Amino acid sequence: MTETAAVRGDSGRLAAELVASRVLDVPDFPKPGILFKDLMPLFADGPVFRQVIDQIVAHHGAQRFDVVAGVEARGFVVAAAIAYATGTGVVPVRKAGKLPRRALSATYALEYGEATLEVHEDAFIAGQRVLVVDDVLATGGTAAAALDLVEQAGGTVAGFTVLLELGFLDGRQRLAPRTVHAVLTV
Ligand code: AMP
Repeated sequence: MTETAAVRGDSGRLAAELVASRVLDVPDFPKPGILFKDLMPLFADGPVFRQVIDQIVAHHGAQRFDVVAGVEARGFVVAAAIAYATGTGVVPVRKAGKLPRRALSATYALEYGEATLEVHEDAFIAGQRVLVVDDVLATGGTAAAALDLVEQAGGTVAGFTVLLELGFLDGRQRLAPRTVHAVLTV
């Protein structure tokens, strides 16, 4: 597990430490030179996962969003948990070619490679307040595409949260003036 010295995040040190204690660093995955942040241990630990989800809900306020959009695939796990905790629903933001009906799409550069995200064009009721979530914020390309798609589809972005932010990649700056909530920043 990651060491917990000088741990920081937007929900305070204790929440950041919870995430830090349940992330595994996997060198050279999926490509040489990438240090993959594996959050499966966090998802697998019920009490810790619940505490982290509760911190995210507390940060945004359960009354301030109507639906949660999760970015495929690990964002689905986070989105479903937040939705269940708040009695809201989930909208999947999917990789290209997975959605069965007419979809809007956005192509963007990744920390490793390029990708396209899609959302059903009728995914949101006009003006619906959407909390967008993913597991990791790296360069911010994925998040920018997801946030744009939500707005293109008629949603209003109510917030954006990740469990873990790679601060040195400046994704947060790329997304400005939108606000990023990261439970852990490394
Ligand atoms: P980016 O578009 O560069 O911000 O990349 C963020 C997306 O890619 C998220 O959906 C992450 O799940 C994934 N990702 C990028 N870099 C990493 C990493 N080092 N560890 C784990 N996931 C990553």
